[in-house]
Amino acid sequence: MISTSPSLIDHPCMNDRMHHCIARIHLPVAHRCNIRCFYCERRVGILPAERGRPGTCERIMEPSETIDQVLGFLDTWGHRSIVGIAGPGDPLANNETFETMALIRRRFPNARLCMCTNGLNLPDSMEKLKQLGLSFLSVTINAVEALIGAKIHEWIDNGSDRLHGEDAAALLMDRQFTGIEMAVQSGMMVKVNSVVIPDINHDHIPEVARTAARLGAKVFNPMPLIPSGAFADRNAPTMPMMKTIHSKCSPYLSVFKSCKQCRADARGIPGKDPYKWKRTG
Ligand code: SF4
Ligand code: SF4
Ligand code: SF4
Repeated sequence: MISTSPSLIDHPCMNDRMHHCIARIHLPVAHRCNIRCFYCERRVGILPAERGRPGTCERIMEPSETIDQVLGFLDTWGHRSIVGIAGPGDPLANNETFETMALIRRRFPNARLCMCTNGLNLPDSMEKLKQLGLSFLSVTINAVEALIGAKIHEWIDNGSDRLHGEDAAALLMDRQFTGIEMAVQSGMMVKVNSVVIPDINHDHIPEVARTAARLGAKVFNPMPLIPSGAFADRNAPTMPMMKTIHSKCSPYLSVFKSCKQCRADARGIPGKDPYKWKRTG
């Protein structure tokens, strides 16, 4: 494995103090997804000047195009910056992700590679990710009980089978847990993201944080629901609800509170992005 010494100290999404100091680029090469979250509303064609959010980007990039993008980015923001893949689908459901990482690794041997995934394909991808020198990994876990997970994820694709309900949620959790343990054992710095959905999982989030800590994750990032997709009519969590969640999770592991829920082609300093989702609650 290529050693890129992952450290919490110098990543903008793992440490609130670094959020305004270190840049990241998201390479939007991963179009497809292998699960369906009820809150998801992926959109390609969102202009850079428009307000974006996870799952949105201006266009899907070809792996070969990313080299010039990363070159310009690192020249502008410096070599501590993070090169990430975060969608707009799931990175591990797209061969383009691995193709891109291999190209980047060859051209920029010291690049600090990062990824956000739903974790379904994590165990099967771990060997490749290690060989490509992935340093930072974020896995979105919205529930650690199948009954709750089934209310958040409509289905998952497991090879040629499409699973629904609690069967789908149970398999997703199993892969997430195994994948995180493997990543931690491999020396990756792991963060767990959770989408906080009032009346579905908001009371359950501290249990997700406790599980994340047990698996070896170092950071927990509870993100307020952006009402969209099939959850467009639901309320986002209020600020007091988020504050309560932060304090209930913090005994287990470091809680990241600065997430701006960036688009899949974001670049620059996260804390200085001009377009941010604003809660109304
Ligand atoms: Fe959308 Fe991400 Fe869920 Fe896939 S894992 S359905 S891209 S939110
Ligand atoms: Fe890495 Fe995810 Fe942050 Fe992007 S959003 S820099 S992929 S942790
Ligand atoms: Fe950082 Fe943006 Fe990712 Fe949140 S979505 S963890 S702010 S890059």
